[in-house]
Amino acid sequence: MHATTGKASATKYIFVTGGVSSSLGKGIISASLAKLLQARGMKVTIQKLDPYINIDPGTLNPYEHGECYVTDDGAETDLDLGHYERFLNVTTSQANNITTGRIYQSVIDKERRGEYLGRTVQVIPHITDEIKRCVQILGEGDRYDFVITEIGGTVGDIESLPYIEAVRQMRWEQPEDTLVIHLTLVPYLKAAGELKTKPTQHSVKQLLEFGVQPDILVCRTEHNLSKSIRNKLARFCNVGVEAVIQSIDANTIYDVPLLMQEERLDEVVLNKLGVQHDNRIDLNDWLTFLDKHKNPKGSINIALVGKYVELKDSYKSIVEAFTHAGAACSVKVNLLWIHSEQVQAANTSELFDDVHGILVAPGFGSRGIDGKIEAIRHARENNVPFFGICLGMQCAVIEFARNVIGLEEAHSTEIKDYTADPVIDLMAEQKGLADMGGTMRLGAYPCNIAAGSLAASAYDAETTEERHRHRYEFNDAYRKRFAEAGMIPTGTHPDSNLVEIVEIPDHVWFVGAQFHPEYKSTAVNPHPLFKSFVQAAKAQVLAGSTPKSNEKEA
Ligand code: GLN
Repeated sequence: MHATTGKASATKYIFVTGGVSSSLGKGIISASLAKLLQARGMKVTIQKLDPYINIDPGTLNPYEHGECYVTDDGAETDLDLGHYERFLNVTTSQANNITTGRIYQSVIDKERRGEYLGRTVQVIPHITDEIKRCVQILGEGDRYDFVITEIGGTVGDIESLPYIEAVRQMRWEQPEDTLVIHLTLVPYLKAAGELKTKPTQHSVKQLLEFGVQPDILVCRTEHNLSKSIRNKLARFCNVGVEAVIQSIDANTIYDVPLLMQEERLDEVVLNKLGVQHDNRIDLNDWLTFLDKHKNPKGSINIALVGKYVELKDSYKSIVEAFTHAGAACSVKVNLLWIHSEQVQAANTSELFDDVHGILVAPGFGSRGIDGKIEAIRHARENNVPFFGICLGMQCAVIEFARNVIGLEEAHSTEIKDYTADPVIDLMAEQKGLADMGGTMRLGAYPCNIAAGSLAASAYDAETTEERHRHRYEFNDAYRKRFAEAGMIPTGTHPDSNLVEIVEIPDHVWFVGAQFHPEYKSTAVNPHPLFKSFVQAAKAQVLAGSTPKSNEKEA
């Protein structure tokens, strides 16, 4: 075991279930507990089990489940994995997000290979065995002291039944090494002026019907839980009163680990699992980050231009990357959400009037493309710091081709099949692929950074590794013309020479990244490009300048 202050005999499995309502924040509670255990010197990983049938969220519209988060090993996963990485500052992988679709796929594949030797394949034991295998695989080789498994959905949903059954079996088979935390809602009824425990009682009863007794209740609430409410919950739900944990609404998700520490969630977990510990906990980095986050010395306005702005979760990692970079630069980043379909040549001055930086977001398909291009034109012509990510970078290339090089028809073949100047084109290995799921250029790839570039100074390095999720690419045939006109490829893939970063050196801060830097930003390790962008926007405020024209004098 790796604990410096604690000792556990075998990998411990902690399950987090949800009751009463969705959106209570199981991911944040799981990540916060993991943070506290990590700060005690334990090795922790978190896993999310999603009860939907999609093999992964890669094919889901962001309006369905928010952002699709991509891991180093190229898994397209639930956005909760982003919280895990941002809180723990460790990477996750394919094994950290499993869906019902994946469970069934692997059981059906085994059945086709004849591995069940003619037996009838059933939910119990075959599906539940596969679920348990996916959980226990993380405990193999003593890599972790704790595996925290968050079960998506709410107890009682038909689709989450096999997961709850798998938890029941593991509790039965390894009583010493498993623990169940039930996250529930204690609503406040304004008319009665009271917090109500009945929904929690019912959801625990439902868990009990499936044979699972929760060990700890984490209660989401808008008001403090009184001693008598805690006692009542403890009595009705068969848990010790110390195991009734209050999770009150927080100003920032980054406060939640501290709130959980105050409630002694980590201590209760360790005691229940019989893990020795001495209460030493090192949260210094976290506290430093929080302090800077909460005490900014000024503020900047960044326009986030995208087509999913109605659902802010679609850009979760970008928003969080700004939180990290803002803290690092001691500024509050106000995000102005701008729907790309609203942006037109005629309204850019008005829309971006008060803005110190413009970020054009990733995306797929043609909706809102023209607006993105207009936003970029505004940034380029007015010397407003600009950051384009993935599709945002591709739009910057299109904009530059049309308005600077003069290739009026320039486009991406994603948007227009046949165009005179396909400056963004399908990658060779993508041609002829029929399957949509899991077939993009996914996961971490190395990138060489050109000396003397903005990227080189931001990263303070000659190489990096960043995560990708795209099919289209800068068309190499145009590289020379772009360079001559002033848009330089400053990041390239070492083997294929694919363009990963473009810059306009003759601009205050103009960077397009084909990869997704936002996935790698964490609270204690903000991403260099976001930091540099925020710094550039801050410089605009300090200079007190309304952005100046970047157009060369005729
Ligand atoms: N749709 C573009 C591509 O596939 C960009 C993808 C993205 O922004 N993630 O290349």
